[in-house]
Amino acid sequence: MTSTILDLISAAKQNTPLAPAAYQEVFDSQHSLFALLDAAYQIRKMHFGNKVQVHIINNVQNGLCPENCKYCAQAVDSEAPIEKYRMKSEEEILAEARNAYESGAFRYCMVASGRGPSEKQIQFYSQIIKKIKSEFPIQVCLSSGLMGKSATDQLKAAGLDRLNHNLNTAAENYAEICSTHTYQDRVNTLEAGAASGLELCSGVIVGMGESDTDLINLAFQIRKLGIVSIPVNFFLPIEGTQLQPNQTTTPERCLRILALFRLINPKAEIRVAAGREFHFRSLQPLAFFAANSLFLDGYLNAKGSSSRDTLAMLKDAGFEIDSRFSIDDLSSDEQDQIPQTAYDIKIKSKEDLRPEFANTSL
Ligand code: SF4
Repeated sequence: MTSTILDLISAAKQNTPLAPAAYQEVFDSQHSLFALLDAAYQIRKMHFGNKVQVHIINNVQNGLCPENCKYCAQAVDSEAPIEKYRMKSEEEILAEARNAYESGAFRYCMVASGRGPSEKQIQFYSQIIKKIKSEFPIQVCLSSGLMGKSATDQLKAAGLDRLNHNLNTAAENYAEICSTHTYQDRVNTLEAGAASGLELCSGVIVGMGESDTDLINLAFQIRKLGIVSIPVNFFLPIEGTQLQPNQTTTPERCLRILALFRLINPKAEIRVAAGREFHFRSLQPLAFFAANSLFLDGYLNAKGSSSRDTLAMLKDAGFEIDSRFSIDDLSSDEQDQIPQTAYDIKIKSKEDLRPEFANTSL
């Protein structure tokens, strides 16, 4: 391991990062990916051991948004063929919170499309948050767009644990991805949440044309805002959204980015969020050597791998979940379906082996 990587590890252990320019090293291919992941793992292990926090996301209101975030399938000018609906009923949301709890989730995340909640919606959320917290010992997070301190005060009083509002991309690029609100609007919402005493969750979407320096600056901005939970999303090019992929995010680059966020934000919960399966491909288990959190059961409008496959992947890689249930408990109902080998063995047919002779008796 080179002295530079050792310097980054030492700074992360003391939670006193070096100057931003030092983190360009993370993207330098002369540093092997495994040296970097080992560096990230030392810090991850220091704060979280081998535990992975499982989040289940639930779209309480989907689509029909007046904002024009180009990456979003729910935006006003998106043509993505998604289900659109107004706010779910209290009964439906409570049933989904119960399902998240029974699936072993550490946290239930309610996400609503839209610019921001009305006063009436804040009252509705407050009522639901109180009920969820009284019925299930589960952490609750809400993501519902832009809001001010009066709204965040009410949510805090109702028992909300965490407020999510992603910064998504660097300040300099924000106008490229959205023109109906600004980066500063997003920062203001996070500051309102912090002033109300809410924990903050705010992350990024990688793969929207950002540079290495943009990512470093974002990781520092997130640190400066005191964010405790960082979802690192990897842009999923859902057909019909305004933004289409404009850069290659290889699995190796994705892993380096997770290591970057871990080294700059050593104590934060770092979540491999949307795009985990699509972008990390066969290197997916390596993501958890830097990150310590994931979404189970898919994302906002895109499916992910099955819970069974995700839990099996974590177990095979030596991780445990942060839940009152164990991975084995959660998989036991499906024991019969779990293949005993890495994949279902299918025997090649004569057509596969001898296509030229498939129709003969040879
Ligand atoms: S990210 Fe949020 S605010 Fe932007 S279009 Fe999607 S739902 Fe609307």
